[in-house]
Amino acid sequence: MNLHFREPAKKSLGQHFLHERGIVEKILLAVDPKPGDRLVEIGPGQGAMTFPLLDRHGTLTAIEFDRDLLAPLTEQARAHGALTLIHADVLNVDFTELAGDGGPIRLVGNLPYNLSSPILFHALDHAAAIRDMHFMLQKEVVDRMAAGPGSKVYGRLSVMLQAYCQVSALFTVAPGAFRPPPKVDSAVVRLVPRPADAVGIRDPRRFADLVRAAFGQRRKTLRNALQTLCDSDAITAAGIDPQARAEQLPVTDFIRLANQTGTA
Ligand code: SAM
Repeated sequence: MNLHFREPAKKSLGQHFLHERGIVEKILLAVDPKPGDRLVEIGPGQGAMTFPLLDRHGTLTAIEFDRDLLAPLTEQARAHGALTLIHADVLNVDFTELAGDGGPIRLVGNLPYNLSSPILFHALDHAAAIRDMHFMLQKEVVDRMAAGPGSKVYGRLSVMLQAYCQVSALFTVAPGAFRPPPKVDSAVVRLVPRPADAVGIRDPRRFADLVRAAFGQRRKTLRNALQTLCDSDAITAAGIDPQARAEQLPVTDFIRLANQTGTA
């Protein structure tokens, strides 16, 4: 047992601490920090990634919600580098403010799985302040994030993330790499936000509403699923078959549909 961290893992905070050195190495290789990079870790826990990142990079900001972990993290970090620890719920952290004028930040985290989607959508809200993200998540979530049209798991999460980011599933991690082991496989994913002009979405709210409605009733045709947002003629005018289902539609079609049928 790590003498600095005496508290048992808290299930309510999604605490599964990584202990497999080989996986930490693979994450470090994927992140590949370069001098001047501004690394921000979400949920440092007992420092499995924090200390190796500090050894490699020298400085790091980390956001941790569990008060009991703050003192041991601070104490142990001294031997590794300069850690700025923020005690907060990550969903309340304004990444744009955190980035300030210093250039975009790079987010890293073995995320609490119960908060995966809220954290991903929170990051999307601050995409312009983020250079990239490397997250460990439930493998099933990563599969959904990276899925393409026609896949059974292609859905709202796939379209929303892929519209704003390049999404790459990197590698899978077995439960035994964590203490306590989660019940499911995990995977590491890289997200690179696209510049706003490359995204090309005129009205982000309309786009989000349209995607939500389209997948809210996945088995329905677009014509039926979208009836409160646009009519069949408008869908046809955007070059899309109103009889198609959301799960068949590429991300670019969702963007065109939102842009051409929106009022903004
Ligand atoms: N990074 C560590 C590792 O790999 O061993 C810990 C990962 S553990 C899966 C998730 C971490 O996120 C825990 O340290 C937990 O306390 C923290 N956490 C949970 N909810 C949080 C929140 N809302 N904001 C910030 N951190 C949170």
